[in-house]
Amino acid sequence: MTATTIDGKAFAAGLRARVAEGAAKVLAEGGRKPGLAVVLVGDDPASSVYVRSKGKATVAAGMESFEHRLPETTSGAELVALVDRLNADPAVDGILVQLPLPSHIDERAVITRIDPDKDVDGFHPVNAGRLATGLEGFVPCTPLGCLMLLRDVLGDLSGKDAVVIGRSNIVGKPMAQLLIRESCTVTVAHSRTHDLPGVVRRADIVVAAVGRAKMVQPDWIKPGATLIDVGINRTKAGLVGDIDPACASVAGAMTPVPGGVGPMTIACLLRNTLVSACRRLGVAYDRAL
Ligand code: NAP
Repeated sequence: MTATTIDGKAFAAGLRARVAEGAAKVLAEGGRKPGLAVVLVGDDPASSVYVRSKGKATVAAGMESFEHRLPETTSGAELVALVDRLNADPAVDGILVQLPLPSHIDERAVITRIDPDKDVDGFHPVNAGRLATGLEGFVPCTPLGCLMLLRDVLGDLSGKDAVVIGRSNIVGKPMAQLLIRESCTVTVAHSRTHDLPGVVRRADIVVAAVGRAKMVQPDWIKPGATLIDVGINRTKAGLVGDIDPACASVAGAMTPVPGGVGPMTIACLLRNTLVSACRRLGVAYDRAL
């Protein structure tokens, strides 16, 4: 058996096109474009690349991009003051503070200062709580993108055994919450899990979000399982995921790295910004987005 490749790049392109249609509707019915503010502190090269590509994708989707690049020496108080201004700015529907922040700034204080209704990254504890209790809010972009791919491949997820490897606040935990919401039976594995291969072997769905190159091996996989690889590991051989590509000989479908989950993250950020603009301006939006 060779697994079907889940083409996240193509799915993300389709989502971006649907978001662009929604943005045009917001302009026509709400009188302005949806707006996303991205804040970068310092000049970390990787973060700078992410911010640039987010800005480009925002403009390409017919939205307004407000980029704020602040020096490394910016104080926590100055950053919080900027967040306050963005919270109050009616042209801003979404606020994203690029992480990690320099070590002298308290990340939690900044994230919790963002208006939860503009928190398109879904990192605010209010949005984590909304997700956990079934209220409408913002879901972190990477797990949301994983869920969209899973639904596209499998349709109804109800009753499936899902194993999420990793329990971070930005990927593992919200992924588990989303899968519970889909009526999967969910196991969350982490660095203290006993017999990880045995745990993964039970799964119809595996989401790996660890950060260890090719950790998940073919003999861990239940035949026909669907594998979602969130991992991004830079090796001498280039970018590789957390799942050994050799797992394709056992799995039913799997995401490649690159070209799987990665492109979905920015597409979902645009989607969340559009949804925020629609909510704020009272414009109806396609809930299937
Ligand atoms: P993280 O905060 O470092 O969390 C990693 C998780 O993996 C932790 O829960 C950790 O367990 C667990 N873990 C570590 N070693 C393990 C082991 N040997 N066996 C089982 N579990 C183990 O990472 P993250 O932010 O969630 O990101 C995970 C990966 O996804 C990284 O490669 C990151 O670059 C990538 N990522 C990709 C995207 C994208 O857009 N594609 C977005 C975000 C992240 P403990 O909790 O016990 O320490």
